[in-house]
Amino acid sequence: MMRTGSGCIERPSPNHGPRPEGVGVELLILHYTGMPTAESALSRLCDPAAQVSAHYTVDEDGAIYAHVPEDRRAWHAGLSSWRGRADVNSRSIGIEIVNPGHEFGYRPFPAAQMAAVADLCLDIMGRHGIAPADVLGHSDIAPARKEDPGELFDWPGLAARGIGLWPHPTPADDSPLDSAESAEEVAALLGRYGYDTAESRLLLSFQRHFHPERLTGEPDPETLRRLRALLRMTGR
Ligand SMILES: [Zn+2]
Repeated sequence: MMRTGSGCIERPSPNHGPRPEGVGVELLILHYTGMPTAESALSRLCDPAAQVSAHYTVDEDGAIYAHVPEDRRAWHAGLSSWRGRADVNSRSIGIEIVNPGHEFGYRPFPAAQMAAVADLCLDIMGRHGIAPADVLGHSDIAPARKEDPGELFDWPGLAARGIGLWPHPTPADDSPLDSAESAEEVAALLGRYGYDTAESRLLLSFQRHFHPERLTGEPDPETLRRLRALLRMTGR
């Protein structure tokens, strides 16, 4: 293995293609690997038969593996959509974060890993001009299919460093409609923020990212306050 100037370990994957003409990098998508070990995940991400990849993988000790050049289209998001636009792979960079995931023993992300993730995110955001609000989880862009990086992921810690948004509701985000809002109205708010309202499990996916202590899929007042706070913070 060879270290590059950026401190990454080169572990090239053949699984990538050209980005469409004129399409730039706008989103940064964070995943967990969801495999029993780091090595099993790295092997799969570099296996031509698997047809999946990401630009980077961050191991639990903070080591960063580089798989696909950033100007190439990696295959990490699959069927996905955000703010009304599908084909997230064409306009994103994808980072896999080693964790067995919900299937193989979901566990907290170590501090060394999160520090490396944060540094890598800031580096990528700076180079491509990606706004904090445009750093998302796989579950945000594919809510019916995906749960990663999941409710143990330290989104508030990343947001404190300017990576992703964390909602800080104010009284302005209260609504007398909290108890009366219909499922359609809640879905409309989620759609305004960016979620694909044609998908299922929207509110559960929202909670997994923005209200992880409350994975009910139900529109409780605090979940709605946080959603309104994000709409206010982004002007959406
Ligand atoms: Zn994923």
